[in-house]
Amino acid sequence: MHIADRIDNMPQYLFAEIDRLKWEARARGVDLINLGVGDPDVPTPDFIVEAFVDIVRHKTATHQYPEYDGDPAFRRSAAAWIKQRFGVSVHADRELVGLIGSKEGIAHFALAVANPGDVVLVPNPAYPVYEMAAILANAEPYPMPLLPENDFLPDFNSIPADILRRASLMYLNYPNNPTAATAELPFFARAVEFAKQHNIVICHDNAYSEITFDGFVAPSILEVPGSMDCCIELNSLSKPFNMTGWRVAFAYGNEQLITALRKVKTATDSGQFTAIQFAAMAGLANPTGTIARMRNIYEARRALVIDALGKMGLPCSMPRASLYVWLPIPLGFASSQEFAMRLLAEQGVIVSPGIGFGRFGEGYWRISLTTPDTRLALGLERIAKFLKH
Ligand SMILES: *Cc1c(COP(=O)(O)O)cnc(C)c1O
Repeated sequence: MHIADRIDNMPQYLFAEIDRLKWEARARGVDLINLGVGDPDVPTPDFIVEAFVDIVRHKTATHQYPEYDGDPAFRRSAAAWIKQRFGVSVHADRELVGLIGSKEGIAHFALAVANPGDVVLVPNPAYPVYEMAAILANAEPYPMPLLPENDFLPDFNSIPADILRRASLMYLNYPNNPTAATAELPFFARAVEFAKQHNIVICHDNAYSEITFDGFVAPSILEVPGSMDCCIELNSLSKPFNMTGWRVAFAYGNEQLITALRKVKTATDSGQFTAIQFAAMAGLANPTGTIARMRNIYEARRALVIDALGKMGLPCSMPRASLYVWLPIPLGFASSQEFAMRLLAEQGVIVSPGIGFGRFGEGYWRISLTTPDTRLALGLERIAKFLKH
């Protein structure tokens, strides 16, 4: 049997061992509390579900093949949201393409811009899809460490010159998963300037732009003057509208880059179900109520988590955005993996070990805020019990 090298080159799945423990515990009947995944627990808002049901029933043309690059109405709706939210104008036909979730866009974008052997600059720790995308494009991922002393922003000056000569693409993601770090416009301006200097394209994943607290407003990289020369950005209905299962998102920015991405997509997928795009439009046209409600829910959970961690002697700062709390593992554990595995084995609580997001995530763990309040509180009680032993 012949399997492509790029498959062997994919890093091993670091949550595999935790998954095995999880299934074993579940088989023993343990009441597992999952604080690991970042997947909104609150259902999709009724008005979006109702719109979908109505469209599926009455607009039977949506049952046929969709427009490959997103329905024109969906693209106009997304462009209008971008304009209203970030003050950025993108052309709905030429500078925007619909996606089957931003994960799809991240993966396909590397195929669109990186040649085999190119370097792709990837934050580390990070959402694993950036690195995988580079590997699937036969490119070489180069980790940009996100370190606490740099507020979890990459230090562009530390990237060696020979790496920069071969680099064609950089992924960025703020508000950040898993560190919960945020970036302001001056950082994005530096990133754009750096990218132009070294002829690098930036793909900014803005999946958490709406999951912000304490009045923080997350910017778009496209607010930087001149960014349209070398950048695209991705946004997704998944997190703000609790629509992770629906798979609907969009990419926008430089026309040539969007055209290249559209070519890859046209060759590999046929676009998202049109009825889902139309239902997503209901959300994009009316985001305020849902987003305000979700922010309140996550803010309350964030307070619960920070308070409980403080009482356990694990002080950590309030994240301004994202669905996560990211903090150092407690003293006495050799690795984030050991900490997470023992917590699961002894208390049935699942958390994400930092190493699962890359080697610069070692020494940290991530708690997700997407578990109902009572379960979250119970999970925190069990963590406290675990640490007392
Ligand atoms: C959740 C998440 C997304 C959203 O992905 P979709 O494919 O749109 O559901 C994108 N990027 C990051 C970093 C995420 O954590």
